[in-house]
Amino acid sequence: MDTYSSGAIVIGAGMAGASAAAFLSATRKVALLEAEETAGYHTTGRSAAIWLLNYGPQDVRALSAASRPFFEAPPPGFTDAPLMSSREILFLAPSDEPEALHQLLLTGEGLEEISVARAREMIPAIREGYAVGAAVERGGVDMEVAALHQGFLRQVKLAGGTVALRHRAGRVWREKGLWHAETSAGAVFTAPVIVNAAGAWGDEVALAAGVSPLGLVPKRRTAVIIDPAPFDCAGWPMVEGVGQSEWYARAEARRKLMVSPVDETPSAPCDAQPDELDIAIAVDRFTRAMDIEVRRVEHSWAGLRTFTPDGSLALGAGSEPGFYWSCGQGGYGIQTGPAAGRLVADLIEGREPEDALKAILPLVDPARFAKLSA
Ligand SMILES: Cc1cc2nc3c(=O)[nH]c(=O)nc-3n(C[C@H](O)[C@H](O)[C@H](O)COP(=O)(O)OP(=O)(O)OC[C@H]3O[C@@H](n4cnc5c(N)ncnc54)[C@H](O)[C@@H]3O)c2cc1C
Repeated sequence: MDTYSSGAIVIGAGMAGASAAAFLSATRKVALLEAEETAGYHTTGRSAAIWLLNYGPQDVRALSAASRPFFEAPPPGFTDAPLMSSREILFLAPSDEPEALHQLLLTGEGLEEISVARAREMIPAIREGYAVGAAVERGGVDMEVAALHQGFLRQVKLAGGTVALRHRAGRVWREKGLWHAETSAGAVFTAPVIVNAAGAWGDEVALAAGVSPLGLVPKRRTAVIIDPAPFDCAGWPMVEGVGQSEWYARAEARRKLMVSPVDETPSAPCDAQPDELDIAIAVDRFTRAMDIEVRRVEHSWAGLRTFTPDGSLALGAGSEPGFYWSCGQGGYGIQTGPAAGRLVADLIEGREPEDALKAILPLVDPARFAKLSA
């Protein structure tokens, strides 16, 4: 059996693993193991690619804010294309839930309440009578997910690391101070440090390694592509319905709209597929809000957003020496990717994290779940 030794093994080459591996590559040779033929095949390749500040719990907001400078000015040579372009986010409160907007305005940052008439100028397709309130987040952006992800993978390779596709880590064990990961391709990788960035499979990898699992729950989210003709949606903001029957839509490839019913169906780790009912709910919620006839769903997909029991990320040391987590990215793994990857590398190398992230260390510490169950 071939054996490869390195400074760190990272399991999973989605955004979580790629970003952690890239930042670790500054100090170590990294072996990044990916089960599939392509990195990003699972959740990373299925996102909506939107960065918004008013999203998720406190740790997510801090990591998103700390990631923003990377999107604005990535390191030289990281990518040929810009990693972001501006996209306002429009929030609409439906007539049966006027208080939902107040809640958002109370807790949100950088939001401006606007009139429904102004909202309908921005998106003329909004149905008359649907919304009773509206607000805009001006700092939102579309993210170039593939460029960010490929940039991180390139950094790993340029630093002499390996991106090993079709290498599913199966047996994982620690012996004489080194972690060993035996893969489906019949190789064994060894390193003093191992990072679990296996997304929906995070707890499976932990159990295989003899590390306490966190109670991760993958939740399926669906997206559909429709044609909004005769409307031209290229310049529309992303639009979200707030309250109980949530949905959102964003322009996709200029002429189409991606619509999601914001579903969160618990699932086993798998190659997630969209469910017909969720597709129908997406179209129903969208057409209640928008005066657009959806004659055909052109394309649909689903992905697993994986959450810890308290909804915050799990970044840092696990229950065994040299084992680290980068899991529980939920619906925010792209917009938090740069800062989360840097933080995991800082924790592994014993470096002081940036000031803005010190306050969230207890919130993301994987040990909080061990404490809860103790
Ligand atoms: C519809 C949808 C919309 C979304 N919109 C946004 C958005 O607008 N903004 C945002 O920030 N986020 C969004 N997200 C969430 C975001 O996509 C995820 O948080 C992020 O992709 C998670 O990355 P990951 O690396 O943890 O997981 P993944 O991309 O799933 O990567 C995990 C990888 O680990 C590999 N793996 C598992 N087990 C093993 C093993 N034993 N050995 C080797 N490899 C293994 C898997 O094959 C997989 O490639 C969205 C998600 C969905 C589904």
